[in-house]
Formats: sequence, structure tokens, C-alpha cells
Amino acid sequence: MNDTINTFRKYCNSLTKYSRYRTREVFIGSIPLGTGNPIRIQSMTTTNSMDTIATVEQTIRMVNAGCEYVRITAPSMLEAENLLNIKNELKNRGYNVPLIADIHFTPNAAEIAARIVEKVRVNPGNYADKKKFENIEYTDSEYYRELERIREKFTPLVKICKEYGTAMRIGTNHGSLSDRIMSRYGDSPLGMVESALEFLRICEDEKYYSLVLSMKSSNPQVMVQAYRLLIQKMEDENMNYPLHLGVTEAGGGEDGRIKSALGIGTLLEDGIGDTVRVSLTEDPEFEAPVAISLVNRYIGREKHHAISSLDVLPYNPIEHKKRESFEVSGIGGSNVPRVVADYSNKEISSPAALSDIGYFYDPVIDKWTMSDSAPDFIFLGNNIPGFVVPNGLKSVFNYSVWKVNRKNSFPLLTANEYLIESDISPDLNFVSVKINEIKEVLFNKLKTVHTAVMVLNTENLHGMAEQRKIFCDLLLHNIANPVIIKRDYNSLTLDELLLFSSTDFGALLIDGFGDGVWIEYSPAQQITGDEYVRSFIKKKESETGLINRILFGILQAARTRISKTEYIACPSCGRTLFDLQETTEKIRKQTEHLKGVKIAIMGCIVNGPGEMADADYGYVGSGVDKITLYKGKDVVRRNIPAENAVQSLIDIIKENNDWLDPNT
Ligand code: SF4
Repeated sequence: MNDTINTFRKYCNSLTKYSRYRTREVFIGSIPLGTGNPIRIQSMTTTNSMDTIATVEQTIRMVNAGCEYVRITAPSMLEAENLLNIKNELKNRGYNVPLIADIHFTPNAAEIAARIVEKVRVNPGNYADKKKFENIEYTDSEYYRELERIREKFTPLVKICKEYGTAMRIGTNHGSLSDRIMSRYGDSPLGMVESALEFLRICEDEKYYSLVLSMKSSNPQVMVQAYRLLIQKMEDENMNYPLHLGVTEAGGGEDGRIKSALGIGTLLEDGIGDTVRVSLTEDPEFEAPVAISLVNRYIGREKHHAISSLDVLPYNPIEHKKRESFEVSGIGGSNVPRVVADYSNKEISSPAALSDIGYFYDPVIDKWTMSDSAPDFIFLGNNIPGFVVPNGLKSVFNYSVWKVNRKNSFPLLTANEYLIESDISPDLNFVSVKINEIKEVLFNKLKTVHTAVMVLNTENLHGMAEQRKIFCDLLLHNIANPVIIKRDYNSLTLDELLLFSSTDFGALLIDGFGDGVWIEYSPAQQITGDEYVRSFIKKKESETGLINRILFGILQAARTRISKTEYIACPSCGRTLFDLQETTEKIRKQTEHLKGVKIAIMGCIVNGPGEMADADYGYVGSGVDKITLYKGKDVVRRNIPAENAVQSLIDIIKENNDWLDPNT
């Protein structure tokens, strides 16, 4: 069954022993990153870069929230020149935070900014190329001529950076790869990596090494694969530049946090990353607490219980391929990952107890309805509910309780019970397994009795790596039973629960592991620095509902089970032409029932269309109070008044038969 056994091609130090991947030290002003430095936190202003005071005040709020570097957009020479006023005003107010100029399309703005600020960020997809979404075939000599043209345009900036001691980030974005790169390498992690390497080689030819690299995408799967591949390529070429981690256009609220934690956290788990920016469609000072929480999780991580090493890798970490499993009663095989709701410690006396997880009972007609994000199984432990649970929701009891309550339910057995008991379900048995219980005798029974679904749990501080190791062992031993990933988060705050579960489950799902997901949680003390989670706590929603939304959100962000509309919303910046937060909310309210439809909401026409990635529809600011609407990459309404634009977007969705009336 397993045809992908490789020696481990290094993209991190170890898949089983946590340690930071060591990169070279680069100074951004007086604050270095890479080598043994802490993982730095940064974010980007959303003010108009010509508004010195507003930008300074927002920068100060960001610094006070924990940002160690602040990025400011410089769309033209004017904004680049104004960076000096911003810098001086910050100094006057006692702030020396290193500033980064964000450049797209405008080498002349970059060359001014590089003389003022501590770092410039260039996008290799649009520094010297215009994106026309054209598929041109390049011969080798044409391609080489293009590279020489780029060298001519880019070298002056490299020389200025070298002279002024300014650092540079070569920041590739999946959505804005140049037509040239796309035509040769496709819309792929390899294209992203090559795009950066072309610029990197020009820098090295000039003996300029103050470089940081990033490989961002709004699709965490692509983003993770691109960083891993970049490290492999750097290892091949003896390069070790620091890495800036981020997921672009992640959106806001729960979904934005889940997507960010899934992409960034997956890499942090393997010790990858020297600086982090979490991009949310929220005020930028709300981004730092999320980034800090993600990063601080790894303080002391190296003290985890040892996990035996992996000498061969039975899967490809640069490609998503689901681990093959056989089907047991709708779990595994070609089914989407299943979701288990844990009610073992909850009161469950009436049908209303299930409304938080999307099952609604109407007593008048004695009928249940369910939402698209309703779980598939409910774990009741020793709890007997005071009503008949709906048909679509299958009950799971602890083995001893199941023995006297078998109707429409399945048992959860310990590994030991599974080995010794003969009175088990003929259809489906959940078997709870930890790493110390993985033994030959268990493998032998799993191989012969095809009714078992493993429920994999861990108590290791480096739990994702331990669970990944077990998946590898299963692959190496040709054990194809479905596996549900379970984590107990009983000592976490809610914001930690949201972020850490997204990382732990997401990292495994991205590599194709997991036929189901299950969280056990009893809340810790509710202290949280995250504004979004604080507002959730104020609303007094139930944790069960939140956990269910998190699990479906993780599956959606990992693109393994689609249960809702996906929003690709830019975080906004000084180029933004409308109120992104308000508009995103307005669009969300009217379209959130369109399961599987991807809608991009982008602040400007300069970068928006390129960054929309694989969105089905795009809503893009194209002038003051003007919006341009896209179907895929094609413009379908240009420069329409903003006041009618949301309705026009809905009209376009209807014209393309992607619309459903709510509640149908
Ligand atoms: S797409 Fe959004 S974040 Fe990107 S440059 Fe435009 S307004 Fe700024």
C-alpha cells in the first residue's frame, strides 16, 4: 500500500526532536533576527502612509501590543519620502522601532525607502514584472533575457541596501507570481521558491546577505509546502537565510486565527521561522497578541519526552496526499474527516443541549434539522442522554456503558479492552491508543479485525510530532485502519485552545493524516489577551459550540472538509480604498450560507486581483467609492459605485448558479 518511502530530505532539524532550525543572523536596525534570537513579532499599518500622525499613532499602538518591527506601505515615491517624517515623529515620541517599507511594482519608491528605513520588502512577482495573467511560453534564451532585465532593475536597490546597512525581505506571495514564473513552474510551491531564488542569487552576486525570505499564501497547505521546499533548496545551495512566516488574506475572527495558526504553527512545530506576522482583517494591534501566543508556545518545548527518531519518511511533506485507510461505518476511505463532539462532561438532559453544535429539535413536528457544520458522532462517556439523539448523530459510550446501551451506539475501548474483549461491536469500535500502547500485538489485531477505528491521543509536550510519528509507524507497518486525532486541552485558555488546536490538528491534516477530529476540553481560568476571544467570552456562548466551530474551521482551512463559505480577505494597508472590516462583515452576512464558494475581498486593484489566489468571486477596491467585481480572474463589472457593489456581487453569484436562498 505504501509506495513513498524516502530518506528524510532535510527541511527542519528533526521530525521528532524539537529544536529551532538555525539560520544566519540579520540585523533589522538594532534588533537582530535569526540564529539564536527570539522569534520576532511584526505587523503592518493600515493607515494612509501620507498621514504621518495617524501612522505614527497606529505604529505606537502596535509596538505597545508587542510588535518588534512595523511595516508601512510605500506605493509611490511620495509615500516613500514620507517615511522620513514618520520615522522622525516616532523618534520624537521616544520610539525607535525598526520600520519596513512595503514595496510592490515601484523600484523608485524602494530606492528612496531603502535610504530611510531599516528594511525594505520587495515582492519578486511584481518588482520588475507586471502581471497580466498571460500564459506565454518562454524559450530558454528569452527566459534568460528576462532574468537579465530583472537584474538590471533590481541591482540598484541591492547596492543601496548594502551601502546603507538596510535589510531586505524577498517576500513571495502565491497569488502574485509573475506570468514568467507561472509559465515555467506553474502555480506551485516550486514556482514560489524559484521566484525568490532568482532575486536571492542577484543579491549574492552583489555580496549582499542581509536578507529575509517569505513564502506566503492564503492556502496554508501551499504555504507550508513552499517553506519546506525553500529550506530544502537553500540547504542544496548552502544558504541559510532567516524566514518570515505568514498566511496572507487569512480573514478575521475565528477563521483568520485558525488559518494563521494552522499555517504558521505547522512550521513552528518543526522549529522553522525567525519572525511572524499574523494578518487579520482587524485593527493591526490585534494581530500581535495572536502571534505572541503562537510563538511563546515553543518556549521550553525542547524539554519534551523523547520520541524515537524517524529514519525513513513514508510520505512526501511537499505534496498533500491523504493516507490511505479502509472504511469503517462511514469513517476513513474516501470519506471526509469526521467530527466528534465531546459531551462526556456535559449536562445533556434535553434536545436543546445539541443546538450549540448544529442539531435543532422542533417539538411541534417532532423533527430534527441540522446545519452544515453539525458533527457526525457524539461521545457521551458514561452519560445517558434524557432523550433520543437524532439519527444523523451517532452515539459513542465508554465500553462498560455501551455493553448495556447498545442501541444505535458504538463503544470506545481502551487498547487493553480491545485486545482482551471478544464482545465488541460487529460494525464499529473506537480504540483509544497512546504511543506506549503501540505494540506488535495491537498491530496484529488491527490488521485482522476490520471494525476498529483508532483514536490517537497524546500527552507529550511535542504532541503533534508524537502523533505524526505514530502515523508514520502505521504507514510503515501497512496498518490501514482509520484514525481519529484526539487532543485533550484541559488546561488551556480559550485563545490557546483556538490557536493550538488549529496547529496540532492542522499540521497533521496538511500532511494527509487523520480520518476524524476530536477535542476534549474543560476550560482553564479565562484570562486572555486576544480581543476576539475576550468578546466571545463576553457573549457567554458555550464552549461546546466554539469547539465544534473550531474543528470544522480547521478542516476547512486544511481544505479537507468544506462546510461553509470561504473568505479570502486582505488585512488592509495604506492602499486600501474602502472599510474592509465593515464590508467583509456585510458580505459575510449575506453569503455565509454558500457552502464551498470562495469570495475574495481585497482593498486595492494594484495587488488585489493578483492576491485573490483561487477565489471564485472577487470584490476589489478600484478607486474612491468604486469597486470592480471578478468572476475568477475575469473582470465582470468595472468601477461600479460602492453603494451597489454588494448587491451586484450577489447578482453575479446568481448569474453563475452558485447562489442558494438562505434556509433552503
Ligand atoms: S490587497 Fe489589501 S493589503 Fe494588499 S496592498 Fe491592496 S489594500 Fe493593501
